Amino acid sequence: MFKTRISLGTVFGIPLRIDISWLLIFVWVTWSFAGGYFAVRYPEWSGVLRWSAGIVASLAFFGSVLLHELGHALLARRMGMPVHDITLFVFGGVAEIVDEPRTPASEFLMALVGPLISLALSGILATVHLVTRGFSEPIAAIAFVLGLMNLALGVFNLIPGFPLDGGRVLRSILWNARQDLLWATRWASRVGQVVAYGFILVGIVRFFSGNWLGGLWIALIGLFLDNAARTSYAQLTLRNLLEDYAVSDIMERECLLLPHHLSVESFIEQYLLGSGRRCYTVGDERGISGLLTVHNVRTVPKVDRPFISIAEVQTPLEELHVVGPDTSLWEALQIMGDAEVNQLPVLMDGQLVGLLTRQDLLRFIRARSALAE
Ligand SMILES: [Zn+2]
Repeated sequence: MFKTRISLGTVFGIPLRIDISWLLIFVWVTWSFAGGYFAVRYPEWSGVLRWSAGIVASLAFFGSVLLHELGHALLARRMGMPVHDITLFVFGGVAEIVDEPRTPASEFLMALVGPLISLALSGILATVHLVTRGFSEPIAAIAFVLGLMNLALGVFNLIPGFPLDGGRVLRSILWNARQDLLWATRWASRVGQVVAYGFILVGIVRFFSGNWLGGLWIALIGLFLDNAARTSYAQLTLRNLLEDYAVSDIMERECLLLPHHLSVESFIEQYLLGSGRRCYTVGDERGISGLLTVHNVRTVPKVDRPFISIAEVQTPLEELHVVGPDTSLWEALQIMGDAEVNQLPVLMDGQLVGLLTRQDLLRFIRARSALAE
């Protein structure tokens, strides 16, 4: 799979990543500062000064978005919710918090802290602008545009459409009123979609009234919001479903133990073809050494298959991510996603008791959602 996230190390112990779309935005923001805003406002500035100020402003904007997300992440951690990572991407950032908030009050605070930080930053930058105006025009100018951008970041995120911060605030209020998280999420997402359609409509009107670039941007933000509202609701429904079931409910129990010396060719002809079985292990009575899937043998050229043993192409046990039979299906899905694997061996007291594959999970989800329709 194509990796679109670049790791930048950790802040306060939380992994920080940027989506590659952010690099594009960095160039675009720097260019709009240096070639646009500063060029128009301060025509007497040299090219070097304009571009330096543009780069400083872009990096500081990156820092502002990071502070906003850190606000969410650190508060979440304080309230006992582990934070997976912070990713900065095209329209801002996301602090990936592993758990859903447990109470409406904790969600309310966690959602509000980000925009409050952005608004506070915009106040601080306005003060910096006023103080430095008299003696350093470039610093005052950078503080001014950054102040405006933080104001925009704070206000935009307060729009009450889920999954924006404002939408989370709305969800926490609805949740508090009815004590039903799924219902609250459904309505906060619907409001999110209405807001998204509003953006798309305004974007289209602007596009056709001559401001095509501005219109395109607004419509794109609308499309992004619509997609985010839909997927976050779908995700919660999926989570609700999968959290109620354990790996042992759907795992494959019939795992076949094959000897090390078996050739890839015999494995394909005697076992793989014709049997619907998907769980093959390699080993002997002393224990298993690894797992064998179609992926392992597919890469072996046909002419070599009689001469290569399955032990040479197996995935060794130590390279596998494992789960227990009591692990929830939701957690198993997360592990598969994080590790980018399609199967998880199920171990109990060091013994292999089954295998959970991505196909098993998908079939389960499909069957359950068909019943729920
Ligand atoms: Zn936020």
